[in-house]
Amino acid sequence: MNQEIEKKVYRGRIKVPYKHTAGAYVEKFITEIGKNNKIYGVKCPKCHKVNVPPKMICIECFEKMEEWVEIGNQGIVKGFTVITHSTPVMPFEPPFAYGIIRLDGADTDFVHIIKESDPKKLKIGMKVKAVFKENPRKRILDIEYFEPI
Ligand SMILES: [Zn+2]
Repeated sequence: MNQEIEKKVYRGRIKVPYKHTAGAYVEKFITEIGKNNKIYGVKCPKCHKVNVPPKMICIECFEKMEEWVEIGNQGIVKGFTVITHSTPVMPFEPPFAYGIIRLDGADTDFVHIIKESDPKKLKIGMKVKAVFKENPRKRILDIEYFEPI
């Protein structure tokens, strides 16, 4: 005999506060950005590629990377997408762009915000520079954004 069972659904929300460590490499990377407005990468001892953001292990040859190198605060836009709609978690009111940036002296790309009042002026290959936050909070957004130069 088939009997339908009435299912009750209770909606709720569970609060799960947590903290996690950024790790030694990201900690140093973020600290240098906030304290000294300097951007660092790490250089692979085998393939000599400079990784930004820094990683402990080279993704090309799996060598441990321990040589920190200061890189420029300027770079080239390799790609971007323009944000036109606002959500509560956005760092800025649109329009702005998320860009793939190859910083001077780096061999990997870095994703960050590009502010340009007229997004139609954004072009692949254009030069941008980091604008650092006046009151750093030890976050990646201590590079507040990149702007065209
Ligand atoms: Zn390598």
